[in-house]
Amino acid sequence: MPALALTGARVFTGEAFLDDAAVIVEAGRIVDVAGAGAAPAGARRIDLPGGVLAPGFVDAQVNGGGGVLFNETPTLEGVAAIARAHARFGTTALLPTCVTDRPEITRAAVAAVREAIAQGVPGVAGVHLEGPHIAPSRHGAHETALIRPLLADDVEMLTTTGLATCLVTLARESASLERIAELAAAGVIVSLGHSDASYEAARGAFAAGARGATHLFNAMSQLTNREPGMVGAVLETGEVWAGVIADGIHVHPASLAAAIRAKRGPGRLFLVTDAMPPAGSPVGEFQLNGRRVLRSGGALRLEDGTLAGADLTMDAAVRFVAGALGLGLAEALRMASLYPAQFLGFDSDVGGRGRIAPGRRADLVWLDASLAAQGVWIGGEAVAL
Ligand code: ZN
Repeated sequence: MPALALTGARVFTGEAFLDDAAVIVEAGRIVDVAGAGAAPAGARRIDLPGGVLAPGFVDAQVNGGGGVLFNETPTLEGVAAIARAHARFGTTALLPTCVTDRPEITRAAVAAVREAIAQGVPGVAGVHLEGPHIAPSRHGAHETALIRPLLADDVEMLTTTGLATCLVTLARESASLERIAELAAAGVIVSLGHSDASYEAARGAFAAGARGATHLFNAMSQLTNREPGMVGAVLETGEVWAGVIADGIHVHPASLAAAIRAKRGPGRLFLVTDAMPPAGSPVGEFQLNGRRVLRSGGALRLEDGTLAGADLTMDAAVRFVAGALGLGLAEALRMASLYPAQFLGFDSDVGGRGRIAPGRRADLVWLDASLAAQGVWIGGEAVAL
């Protein structure tokens, strides 16, 4: 297979924009970022008509897409269909996300992701288990009857998945500090969410090993004058990461902009889609644990009005942050790729994600002038759009 030379677009490396650059890809890796005239002889050259070539998007929270809900289809085929649906919008690595459900569904979800990774299904990079160990008081669209505390058996299951990347969203109310520490010590990435934890309780969980927060602002105790809540604990703890749903519906743009400025540690807010089956499909409604979810006006809601995930793709979230929020394209692209790659441990120089640099995986997205994904490569293989 000859090398591939991608030219003609501005290249965003994860740090800066390069004009007149060629990205050279060979055997699934980026081997060089050279001057456009320096493509190796014999390379297959693709001249992109302008736009931006950026590191592929990394999405840590994807419940579904392309008409498929992971909880309903916790199989290899389900995982592959979800990854395929989001790849068309520039996502080259995602964590299929299983929300609160019966233990057998959670186990099937883990097995499906394990199988997908073993078989090399493009774009599947680990699993996210959101619940069932959350707080009933902040259940959101999760089925309250299925919420339960984190017990020793659960720790055993979560620490023996055989997966390199296992992200768990739990509430401090449903997990002891000792069990949070056990998960973290075993390499499970613990993210606090769906929780009414006080500032102090959240800080305690971070000290015990929790490293992140799930969909900042949504389904958690808010920042108030004398009780900073979970939101305050996240914003005040520089080393903690947080995902955020930037669709203009889940979080007010002003709250989101304030949060981005408030983090002391630079660049620790990243974009997630929290996508459901309608993302990337014409689906107008679906079932979540037997309840109807309706799609309307860019939002997905249970019949009582509760938001139930998002009707969002990652390129749309990038457009929102770069455009409506006015943060600029570079930071929007980092929030969609570099920062989540760092949070999930994908930022290694050899075979890592989140940057365009020699040695990295050739996971790339080409965005046109309107920031729509027009070309996507996963491990150097072009994705059919
Ligand atoms: Zn949630």
